[in-house]
Amino acid sequence: MAKINQNYLQLQGSYLFSEIAKRRTKFIQDNPQAAIISLGIGDVTRPLPEAVIRSLHDAVDEMADAQSFRGYGPEQGYDFLIEEIIKHDYAAHGIQLSNNEVFVSDGSKCDVGNIQEIFSLDSIIAVQDPVYPVYVDSNVMAGRSGDYNKTSNRYENIVYLPCNAENNFKPELPTQKVDLIYLCYPNNPTGMTLTKDELKVWVDYAREHNCILLFDSAYEAYIQEKDVPHSIYEIEGAKEVAIEFRSLSKTAGFTGTRCAYVVVPRELKARDEEGNEVTVNDLWNRRQTTKFNGVSYITQKGAAAIFSDAGKLQIATLVDYYMTNAAIIREGISSLGIEVYGGVNAPYIWLKTPNGMGSWEFFDKLLSEANIVGTPGVGFGQNGQGYFRLTAFGSRENTEKAVDRFKKLSL
Ligand code: PLP
Repeated sequence: MAKINQNYLQLQGSYLFSEIAKRRTKFIQDNPQAAIISLGIGDVTRPLPEAVIRSLHDAVDEMADAQSFRGYGPEQGYDFLIEEIIKHDYAAHGIQLSNNEVFVSDGSKCDVGNIQEIFSLDSIIAVQDPVYPVYVDSNVMAGRSGDYNKTSNRYENIVYLPCNAENNFKPELPTQKVDLIYLCYPNNPTGMTLTKDELKVWVDYAREHNCILLFDSAYEAYIQEKDVPHSIYEIEGAKEVAIEFRSLSKTAGFTGTRCAYVVVPRELKARDEEGNEVTVNDLWNRRQTTKFNGVSYITQKGAAAIFSDAGKLQIATLVDYYMTNAAIIREGISSLGIEVYGGVNAPYIWLKTPNGMGSWEFFDKLLSEANIVGTPGVGFGQNGQGYFRLTAFGSRENTEKAVDRFKKLSL
């Protein structure tokens, strides 16, 4: 028999979402009349913007004609999209990038999961706790995590950076040597952000300690406040230490259509076994051209439409819709005296469970008394215990209904 990659056996079952599904199914079986509202899953509900739809249709028509038909495209993405990304997402904010520094992909999940491949297996990784699980699991699969400790609920070789109300969900710098630091801002699940000055601390740290920041800004489009940076490259020197991930999933409703991109600046260097400098961009390019055949032409045409005048307006409307939901949830819940975080620059609301309840205990209460499904914070890490995540991606009607039901909870 063939032998498996033993590291996969170190993975902890996807306990969080399967347990949520199990409890929800059981509740529906016992209470078939209950109208459940889900504010749990981080998926969007509004349709694609009109400008995107038009562009997708046009691209489909192009594929029907031998003159305009496209086969394999560049693995890195078409220049027509890369140029729009650079112009609108970076140059407009004073950041200069070359086309070969942007890699279009079919989603940030793949990008943040795959990026670790180009770094040494003995790299020490640091993650925020609570954390988007892909950062951890992709390193477990690669064999960097060490054993899972069932008492601490943590992997032995991963450095966890606690984020909780005590530090306002802003992690302390690592106290031991790390090589790769995953930062997610605006944060999933806490919905919190760093200011420019706070992010600068991380960039300076990475420069001083020769580590690389893996900056996931899948929720960048939701930033409302002025002092919150939209890109890590707004910080001086960041190009030498940071890779940035962006996604159209939440920006433009692309969760099912699939398009994202990674920025790997040419200035970013790492070292080989002999200590020679290597340009990280070359390695990522090699990885992508070997293992990835590009995002479909049709999808990239649709994606480029978000940068048109009409597209920009339409995605602003989309973001505004969800952020109004976020405000409704935030205000409704904090009016009950519950501590609420996030929801200002992100579509996630992170609440402190009332009366010291555990995350799962609160999940059960919310499901049984209000028929609302949310996500227990402890599912994202030990520091999520006693917290609970709600998303603003529902319809307005359901969001308002959910808040009304929240107000009737016996707290
Ligand atoms: N990064 C974070 C922090 C996310 O929350 C998500 C989606 O939930 C992703 C990346 C993945 O996004 P995509 O749909 O582009 O794969």
